[in-house]
Amino acid sequence: MWEKQNRRIVLAARPNGEPREEDFRLEAVDLPSPAQEQVLLRTIYLSLDPYMRGRMNAGPSYAPPVEVGQVMEGGTISAVVESRSPDFVPGDVVLGYTGWQEYAVAAGSSLQKLDPARAPVSTALGVLGMPGLTAYTGLLNIGQPKPGETVVVAAASGAVGSVVGQIAKIKGCRAVGIAGGKRKCEFVLHDLGFDVCVDRHNASFPQDLKAACSKGVDVYFENVGGRVLNVVLPLMNRFGRVPVCGLIAQYNATGLSPGIDRVPALMGAILSKRLTFRGFIVTDFAAQKDDFERDMIQWLRADKVRYREDVVEGLESAVAAFQGLLKGRNFGKLLVRLAPDPTRD
Ligand code: NDP
Repeated sequence: MWEKQNRRIVLAARPNGEPREEDFRLEAVDLPSPAQEQVLLRTIYLSLDPYMRGRMNAGPSYAPPVEVGQVMEGGTISAVVESRSPDFVPGDVVLGYTGWQEYAVAAGSSLQKLDPARAPVSTALGVLGMPGLTAYTGLLNIGQPKPGETVVVAAASGAVGSVVGQIAKIKGCRAVGIAGGKRKCEFVLHDLGFDVCVDRHNASFPQDLKAACSKGVDVYFENVGGRVLNVVLPLMNRFGRVPVCGLIAQYNATGLSPGIDRVPALMGAILSKRLTFRGFIVTDFAAQKDDFERDMIQWLRADKVRYREDVVEGLESAVAAFQGLLKGRNFGKLLVRLAPDPTRD
């Protein structure tokens, strides 16, 4: 019945620094068949996320690495093609974690059925999915924003940052975004409703950020690290909170960055300003998923939260899109569409 093959992208080599095209391999294999309790899925959307860069490295992290020769991991929205699970029928659209491939077999128990009437199914990988939950839980639990406070977030047009700033506004804060380029800043300001957005590429970035935060910074939601952190740190107010969510500026680093050792300045600021830095992984707050979904659906319907998706077409586009994500070339939640979305197209 299935003459088609499954095309998939595997990790060909571990990158040293920026991932190169040769670190990935596109291959075609026979379509797998589902066993009892499993389903055969056709991928509609593949999510590309910064954490995938970490999975390409060997060595200890919060999750095991992808092995060389293995399919690259990733969240997916798929259509059920064939089901040997009592919980699914062909045509169901599901959220899974089936990676960079056009078809996959998965256990029914690992999938979540999506209701296209609730929201576009692609949002289960973005504003209503892992990145949205990251923003919600990191900001509310660790950032603890209070009305009138100033909340700063970088990568502000992206999947996580866009939600952080909009929730900060909902909570009565002043939201200051940092983004790469004029188009992104205009979107953050006019479409997302942040109070200010500062372009990190401008030579005057440190002065612009200082001017945008005239009362200092109470919450810095850390998405990027590197130079942006160095610019924000002197602006932090006493008892400021820093949810440490991501450090994308250093994901391709191969060693310590050149220049002066900034650890003493960081530790000095933490001590003298009594700052709280707390790292977190979204799964730490998995128990808050229901609260998040309830609030986010309401905010989306009330137009209090908006989102932007950056959709590229076809599996063969995934590598370049992923390389671009690590350089700020994406504009919104980055998705690869592998097949028509039956709920939209
Ligand atoms: P985005 O959609 O925001 O895309 C990444 C953005 O990062 C780019 O568009 C760019 O934005 C910015 N960026 C890239 N390189 C640099 C750099 N060198 N310096 C400063 N900014 C840079 O991605 P996500 O929203 O998915 O992820 C944002 C962060 O959140 C990442 O660090 C990610 O790892 C982290 N994260 C952490 C989770 C957790 O559980 N702790 C879960 C999910 C995400 P611009 O061009 O506008 O500067």
